Amino acid sequence: EAKKSGKKRWNEYQFCMEKSLKRLSDLAQNLSLAERNNELSLHYQPIIDITTDQITSFEALLRWYNPDLGNTNPQEVIDVAEKTGLIRDIENWVLNRALKDLLTFKQIIGQHITMAVNISGLHISEPNLGNYVFSLLKRYNLQPADLTIELTESVLLTYIDAAESPANQMTKQGIKLSIDDFGTGYSSLAYLHAIPASVVKVDRAFLNQTENNTVALECIQTLLSSLNMKSLIEGIETKGQASLLHSLGFNLQQGYFHGRPEPLDYYLSEFLTK
Ligand code: C2E
Ligand code: MG
Ligand code: MG
Ligand code: MG
Repeated sequence: EAKKSGKKRWNEYQFCMEKSLKRLSDLAQNLSLAERNNELSLHYQPIIDITTDQITSFEALLRWYNPDLGNTNPQEVIDVAEKTGLIRDIENWVLNRALKDLLTFKQIIGQHITMAVNISGLHISEPNLGNYVFSLLKRYNLQPADLTIELTESVLLTYIDAAESPANQMTKQGIKLSIDDFGTGYSSLAYLHAIPASVVKVDRAFLNQTENNTVALECIQTLLSSLNMKSLIEGIETKGQASLLHSLGFNLQQGYFHGRPEPLDYYLSEFLTK
């Protein structure tokens, strides 16, 4: 009896694995053609300075719609792109489109608007990344400080030692660096001083309103201001969270409460009809 159900579970496991491998290879196959077939797009989520209630920046978030697969999960797509080596081409496409669209944002909202782009760990260690980014800034007549590169905590931990890494090259020239999903990784506060990051994006995991989290957020805020780093909190969904976090000193905020990720067209109609 026990053996039987064990066998049944094994079959289910195998079926499940096969399905997931099939899904992976479907994704990988289609993804390699996605750029050529115009299936990639970007959504932009605003970053708000809550002291003025103005948008200071946008984060570019990858979207991939495929006729056969439908809408796909961005994190899953990034994972597949990393596994298949497509990440470099895809993120170069993201960088190009995001900086091109930044010109439009500056026109419709204000020249102060900047752009944040997520870069994967595999791509940030690519020696040519710096040159490519600078060629784009030149092409669109933008300043290095117009671009922020978002790297996750664990990626940054790997890169600290590589003094000549593209990330260091870029920050030396004025491109901003931001630590994404802060607090979810190995989260050693001790390494922070060694990283030339100007913004730390504290993960929304801290937003579950417990006493503990509030204390942790206070500590993070104190530490970051002593290091002259800006703190940004992501995943703000309610007015209550926004004002609590404001009172804790988090002036830069991002989340569904302030604005969802939307395509450029959304902002065109939003700002041009006002
Ligand atoms: P992320 O960089 O931490 O981006 C924030 C994610 O949280 C986005 O999910 C965003 O839509 C979502 N979000 C924003 N505000 C809220 C909120 O108030 N509540 C909730 N529940 N969620 C919120 P999305 O767009 O699905 O992207 C997921 C992740 O995929 C991103 O996390 C980022 O790590 C990755 N990603 C997206 N585009 C790229 C890319 O071009 N390159 C790389 N390396 N990663 C990317
Ligand atoms: Mg991000
Ligand atoms: Mg994040
Ligand atoms: Mg994330």
